[in-house]
Amino acid sequence: MIREELVFVATCDISGLVRGKGFPARELPARLNKGVGWTGSNLMMSPFGPIWDTPFGTAGDFMIVPDPAVEVRVDFGDGSAIEHFFLGDIRNTDGSAWECCPREFLRRAVRQLDEAAGLRLVAAFEQEFLYTGISGRPGDAYALGAFRRQDSFGETFTAALRAAGVVPDTFLAEYGPRQFEVTVMPQPALTAADHAVITREMARAAAHRLGHRAIFSPKPDPELVGNGVHIHMSLVDRAGVPVTHAPGEPMELSRPAQHFLAGVLHHMPAICAITAPSPVSYHRLVPNAWAPTVIDLVRQDRGACLRICPTFAAATPAELTRQFHVEFRSSDAAASPYLALSAVIFAGADGIRRGLPLPTGTPPELPHSLPEALDRLAASETVAQWFGLTHFDAYVRFKRVEAEKLAGLSPAELCARYAEVY
Ligand code: GLU
Ligand code: MG
Repeated sequence: MIREELVFVATCDISGLVRGKGFPARELPARLNKGVGWTGSNLMMSPFGPIWDTPFGTAGDFMIVPDPAVEVRVDFGDGSAIEHFFLGDIRNTDGSAWECCPREFLRRAVRQLDEAAGLRLVAAFEQEFLYTGISGRPGDAYALGAFRRQDSFGETFTAALRAAGVVPDTFLAEYGPRQFEVTVMPQPALTAADHAVITREMARAAAHRLGHRAIFSPKPDPELVGNGVHIHMSLVDRAGVPVTHAPGEPMELSRPAQHFLAGVLHHMPAICAITAPSPVSYHRLVPNAWAPTVIDLVRQDRGACLRICPTFAAATPAELTRQFHVEFRSSDAAASPYLALSAVIFAGADGIRRGLPLPTGTPPELPHSLPEALDRLAASETVAQWFGLTHFDAYVRFKRVEAEKLAGLSPAELCARYAEVY
């Protein structure tokens, strides 16, 4: 059969899905400049396909321009089509950044943190998903048996990640039936978010080659534990020196880290609609599921919203400082990694700018539903400023209509719908 290699250029949009357009690989030199055509309303495609509501209508032209630094070209070696795509930026036709581009939003957050404190965030995404190529058995939690029965998926996925430029860290059978988890090495914020997108796509691509699926939906089944996306993060100065750890300070957190985390806690009610942005996200954020239910910062507690992670066998203070970091646990794969990480960084930068102290007393509860979270988001003038008016309006409208369209479904129906898509 004759074949010609194709390339895809993509964004990871408000729905957290990766969308764009393809073209013959030989056209790549020209496409590196002009990208592929896009519209404002393309940002408003619901997880289920239709554009339900849009401030942009049918008017306007944009382009997704590939970032040459984020090229994935993976040959699975099985005769299937080469997985060749770029992640890119949504730009105006004159080449300037579009105010609603998810990667541009993250760049702005990074700049805000730099301006507030001369700091950068280093992050690594830990992601959970179901692999459908294995049947669940009692006793599978973290089991070698489950690890074995996923067969060659783990090896293919790991090889694909490495070929895609993402450095794999761990791969394991998680707590739930058919549930697996992958962690990758930390990177500066924008690269970390790119790698989170690529990690999901490589899991889906490897599973697809094997005739199966990787399902990242936050809650694939109302009876089982959810799939979290945890953001491991630490602060470094402009020279890359870790500055999160400070012995003798509260929770051994440096002053900037305390303010940063206080900012995240402060804005958490509003940003929850960005980091846990789907109706099913709130079926994950329930008690006894290793997921957070209150807005807290705790040392070494996997039920916390923000968890100070342990350090392991750190023989020197420098090694301890290098390992010391915090995990943001209130996010999931319905969120675009760009938007979720932006929200955390903007919130943290605001905490530093305002010198917010760590809260004391009983921690407030996380929102219990998407509509409740959206009310909190819509009421935040600060978050509206981070977005800008057009982007904020688009985001809130997108999510409100998503909540409305699915409002009548039972938990089981809701979980099934999202498991089909994510
Ligand atoms: N599955 C849990 C979640 O939804 C996380 C389990 C863990 O890795 O601690 O976040
Ligand atoms: Mg896990």
